[in-house]
Amino acid sequence: MKNATFVDWQTLEFSLVNILVEQGTSALKFIDIHDVDALRIKPEELDCTGKLVTRSFGVGHHHAYSALSRGMGAPQKRPQNFHEILKYVWWTLDKCLDNEIIESCALVTAIACAKAGSTFVIDHHASPLAVIGSLETIAKAFDKVGVSHLLCYEISDRDGAEIAWKGLRETEDYLSSRQGLVGLHASFTVSKETLGKAIALMKQLNSGIHIHVAEDAYDQELCIHEHGKRVIERLAEAGALDSSKTILGHCLHLDDNEKKIINESPCWVVQNCESNLNNNVGYFNGTGLGENIILGTDGMHSDMLQSAKAAFFVGQRHDSINYESAYRRFRNIHHYLHDNSYEGDSDNNLVVLDYDSPTPIYQDNFMGHFIFGINSGHVRDVISDGRIIVRDRKVITVDEDEVLKVSQEHARRLWNRMKEARFYD
Ligand SMILES: [Zn+2]
Repeated sequence: MKNATFVDWQTLEFSLVNILVEQGTSALKFIDIHDVDALRIKPEELDCTGKLVTRSFGVGHHHAYSALSRGMGAPQKRPQNFHEILKYVWWTLDKCLDNEIIESCALVTAIACAKAGSTFVIDHHASPLAVIGSLETIAKAFDKVGVSHLLCYEISDRDGAEIAWKGLRETEDYLSSRQGLVGLHASFTVSKETLGKAIALMKQLNSGIHIHVAEDAYDQELCIHEHGKRVIERLAEAGALDSSKTILGHCLHLDDNEKKIINESPCWVVQNCESNLNNNVGYFNGTGLGENIILGTDGMHSDMLQSAKAAFFVGQRHDSINYESAYRRFRNIHHYLHDNSYEGDSDNNLVVLDYDSPTPIYQDNFMGHFIFGINSGHVRDVISDGRIIVRDRKVITVDEDEVLKVSQEHARRLWNRMKEARFYD
């Protein structure tokens, strides 16, 4: 990477450098341009003159399976609350997925993530009528594009005991050969038995839980009614919060004691404020939750710079967030992945930003540019695990146009299935 303006993602220090990036190794080398000739293998050159180069991004909570929902028609019944949004939209959609549609969803999601600068995705998957093998299908599609991943299947009793059992089996099978998490949908669709089995699996495989928590007040109401305790109390007592790999999604409707339990645990919270606005379920407030907060998109899109901006703006009224903490939450995924020894997110994951700023940019004013200027449209090239996967704004590992052509066909098929489906009346 020739003549790059390198921005250290931790110190925000700027330096004019030539960077030697090697595939498969994590270390970056800053080299003199004259030394290139002495290298044993002549490297492929990326001219970065006038461009910012920094660590690529990561998505803390995604749902690739929802990728083909964009533009689909309204559900047969108009949802009146969050539970009905789930039933009439998402739990209808996920039951219409088959292996081919799942593959298509994963390919278009990986492409969208890569083009928006993310080289790592933590995904939460559901396909109740196509459970077995679904995670490997997603993993292979992500691998093809060159986006690293931490996947899970969202185990749930909402479709009966057999599908809950398949979710557990799929998780165990997948985690025997791949890095991943033990996914649970949410407290209100997970029975005592299934929660116990999932946590036993988490401990047996030295993994963590990835679950939606108190996204809507309904999750708490049902938990108190059925288990006589609040969601975080239930999860903590069962052992879900013991792992530093555990990720709790949303965490909107928590009381002070629940926040304290999370704060004192090693687990992580993932914020998805645009999804919360869309579902009209409330506002995230990180006060009292501690420092372990990352950001996700919740399947709404694949653009983490947008998620960071949304967290900052929505948080002006509802959260204690400033430039620094917005940036910290945006970057915390690297700490989560590193501290838990996950692979695929080392120093040789980079973005080249073609950032045409009308004002000077430097270390001390970088945050202002991060919130108000830099967006995914500035991502020109992306390097994942030392390999170029996006060049001049185009994914080069797969044929983007072909993938989109196929996904449009699958989208039509999916929407037709959903029109005919009558899972909830
Ligand atoms: Zn989610």
